[in-house]
Amino acid sequence: MYKTLLHPSKTNSQYILDIPVIGLGVWQIPADNHTEKAVKWALDAGYRHIDTAQIYNNETQVGKIIKGRDDVFVTTKLWEDNFGYENAIKACENSLSKLNRIDLFLVHSPHRPELRKETWDAMQYLLKNNYVGSIGVSNFGAHHIKEILDFAEIGPCINQIEISPFLQRTELVNFCDSNSISITAYSPLTHGRMINDPKLQIIAERYKKTPAQVLVRWSMQKGNVVIPKSSNKDRIEQNFRIFDFALNQEDMNLLNQFDQNLITCWDPTMEP
Ligand code: NAP
Repeated sequence: MYKTLLHPSKTNSQYILDIPVIGLGVWQIPADNHTEKAVKWALDAGYRHIDTAQIYNNETQVGKIIKGRDDVFVTTKLWEDNFGYENAIKACENSLSKLNRIDLFLVHSPHRPELRKETWDAMQYLLKNNYVGSIGVSNFGAHHIKEILDFAEIGPCINQIEISPFLQRTELVNFCDSNSISITAYSPLTHGRMINDPKLQIIAERYKKTPAQVLVRWSMQKGNVVIPKSSNKDRIEQNFRIFDFALNQEDMNLLNQFDQNLITCWDPTMEP
């Protein structure tokens, strides 16, 4: 299943791309042959989207498995050490040499505010010159995105942020929505922290599904792209088996009440 990404644009130029709504996140999967195995298991299970980053140190291993696979969508992220115009372009070239293709390139965080503008200028250059298929941001708050939209010719098509029923960020999500910016939900399984939550388990039992499947399905039904991580073959397969059921409105409403601002990763969205 795919979602269409659209870049907010001040000109008539339109950059549109379809992204598979479920991707395998590969953060903290060791760069040795485990990453290769996990990506292969994911492709066999039906995933067509892999989410990596320069800082994860496993782009080479991801690239090895997806080589020649035009049907696989790859996201990677520009790490903070590589911010700045020239550096961003060089770092993108380096990622490309490992991954062979980049469908979505994200600025990993809003850190180093003094470099935000020139880094985004480089992102626009990379998009216009077909280095990458689409450009976006990650961990950006509304004020960071406004700053980009104020000067940019082409805005971000996506903001990748931590989202789960336990961390819904309604204001930021609504802001992105009103600017046609899609959301990718990272750490959708709360990094494993709330997987045994009794209220979640009761809902999962109603559908004969696991709590993880309910969490992935909730994110998808909210309209997000979602990138659960697992390094285990069975759990990789399990997390993708969410197309054979739908949470009814009553259970969506229940899950919508789980919000407790639970951040399990970092949170640069509030920083200056
Ligand atoms: P997550 O996907 O929320 O949770 C991963 C944890 O849940 C792992 O410990 C995993 O263990 C466990 N797990 C996976 N499937 C399970 C299942 N079916 N049942 C029970 N436990 C299960 O956490 P995440 O890795 O933080 O987030 C996912 C992806 O989002 C990352 O890999 C990365 O691509 C992206 N991300 C991006 C940022 C950013 O700053 N942009 C930050 C964080 C994450 P096993 O591996 O042992 O299965």
